[in-house]
Amino acid sequence: MLEMLATLAAGLFSCAKYRMIAPETNAVRMARSFCVGVHSMKRLFSVVLILLLALPAFSPAKAATPQYSIQAIRYASADDEVAGLVMGAPKGEKITIAMVVWLIRGDGRNILFDSGYHRDTFLKDFPSTEYLRPDEAVKLAGVQPEEITDIVISHSHWDHLGGIDLFPKATVWIQKEEFRYYTGEAWQPGGNHGGIDPEDVQQLVRLNTEGRLHLVDGDDVEIFPGIRAYTGARHTYASQYLRVDGNPAFVLASDNCYLYRNLSEHKSSATFSDADHAANIKNQERMIQLAGGDPDRVIPGHDALQFQKYPTQGRIAKIK
Ligand SMILES: [Zn+2]
Repeated sequence: MLEMLATLAAGLFSCAKYRMIAPETNAVRMARSFCVGVHSMKRLFSVVLILLLALPAFSPAKAATPQYSIQAIRYASADDEVAGLVMGAPKGEKITIAMVVWLIRGDGRNILFDSGYHRDTFLKDFPSTEYLRPDEAVKLAGVQPEEITDIVISHSHWDHLGGIDLFPKATVWIQKEEFRYYTGEAWQPGGNHGGIDPEDVQQLVRLNTEGRLHLVDGDDVEIFPGIRAYTGARHTYASQYLRVDGNPAFVLASDNCYLYRNLSEHKSSATFSDADHAANIKNQERMIQLAGGDPDRVIPGHDALQFQKYPTQGRIAKIK
């Protein structure tokens, strides 16, 4: 009995070694079958261990963020006054601003952030230079209008929303509260619809009935893997800005921050009402944090400097 226990114990601790030296007895046969059991358990344990180690790679929470490219596409330029863009700046100083859409590519998507404008009224009423219709401008980056899968609208002003009908297959993303306000209350007594084109609003409603409108519900919402929408800067009723994750991350501010000067001088962009200036400045600080602390990685809505800070060919700056 003692001999049998000793044989089993030896089998447990060193099956391979025991097989080499043990004589063939009943006890050895028992030990060998015990060894087979131990080996099967070891194999099972190894398989479970490998699966456990491999699991995080397949878990959705830890899935690798897609690496997106970001390009700023300048479809026009215009003369403006700094005091209208940087609240509190001295009156009289002029600046040439860029009219821009941003193209974000990756993970099988071609996403536009804002859509520009093209209707005659604005071409006549808003003097611009070097105008190229936004769909033609996007073609310069090698993307056909029907290849745009999504358009994220930062806010409803005509120069950002007015081009959505140029991209026939795109799903349009806008904040739920922005949609609610500008399709309703904004046009009622006491409402504020400055800079909003009724035709754009009708187009939004049409897209909704066609199942091509996606309403983003609030602040810090992931709308694509690695791309999150933020509110609170209040350029309009519920304007939004984007953080594109990656190495490094970038924030696309649109008009929630018009110029780099807003950031460096800690001055508000134009807001829905003057009472929103403080929230706007706070959100500009948040944008810098979201961009890893580097103000250059916050891309303002109309600053021509983005075409100097980043490598630019013709109308297109390669931000990332
Ligand atoms: Zn604008």
